[in-house]
Amino acid sequence: MKEFNPYRGRFAPSPTGPLHFGSLVAALGSCLEARAHGGEWLLRMEDVDTPRCSPEAAAGILRTLDRLGFEWDGEVMVQSRRTARYGELLEQLKAAHLAYPCACTRRELADSAPAPDGAAIYPGTCRDGLPPGKAARAWRLRVGDAVVAFDDAVQGLQSQRLGAEVGDFVLLRADGYFAYQLAVVADDADQGITHVVRGADLLDSTPRQIHLQTCLGTATPAYAHLPVALNAQGEKLSKQTLAAAADGVAPASALLAALRFLGQAPPDGLADVAAVWAWALENWRLENVPRARALRAPPAW
Ligand code: GLU
Repeated sequence: MKEFNPYRGRFAPSPTGPLHFGSLVAALGSCLEARAHGGEWLLRMEDVDTPRCSPEAAAGILRTLDRLGFEWDGEVMVQSRRTARYGELLEQLKAAHLAYPCACTRRELADSAPAPDGAAIYPGTCRDGLPPGKAARAWRLRVGDAVVAFDDAVQGLQSQRLGAEVGDFVLLRADGYFAYQLAVVADDADQGITHVVRGADLLDSTPRQIHLQTCLGTATPAYAHLPVALNAQGEKLSKQTLAAAADGVAPASALLAALRFLGQAPPDGLADVAAVWAWALENWRLENVPRARALRAPPAW
């Protein structure tokens, strides 16, 4: 009989372009941490922001992961197929009077101070009802004076005063797409994720996700945020900063570079993908990952 294993991790790329060094680091760290616990490792395509994503990019990421020797469990979850589920959860929040319609345009919010992710801290204009003559554009979550604290396995204790530092945040966007924050909470809950290992660019989003989990009555996973990879200009590697695709590098070298970035010390002479995986599965230690939010990627990338 298969023993119940309480560890289930995941990798959740946004298919906006090819897998690059930064996303490889998140894939490898989340996979090795799951396997080190004898756990499962699931994949999810985060294409909720559909206009920025493409099915070709999603297929390319899966091909690259396969070429790099990753093995995932079960079917790949695809956010763009789950809008009905996100709609159900929004209805649940509306019924609990936790979600409210908002008529504010981006221009009207331009004077508000920025939240950590660059969006405006919502001043609460529509919290007690839409201004007369204005129509709903988006739906927001009422956060009140919630303070969310959690102990990140890499970055240590974190705490955020949601009302003051983020404000009531968007659940359904003015363009009709569900917000990432709602989608990721729905998906982590529905996939039964117990441990989230991902890039530290999402550290500031985590309190919003934990608060949503509390509002929806779903479990809160454990979190570990890995350092984000920066280019020589100090920018986060991404499609926008023209990060090189992992496909341009020999698979074993790509894996070794990601392992070293994550503070692991693979020996010289691991010749092929199978040898690198065998070493990594045996020797992975989360505690060796540098406790930094961001680090320079190796120059060859
Ligand atoms: N889709 C996000 C990204 O590619 C990751 C979200 C997550 O891991 O929660 O940056």
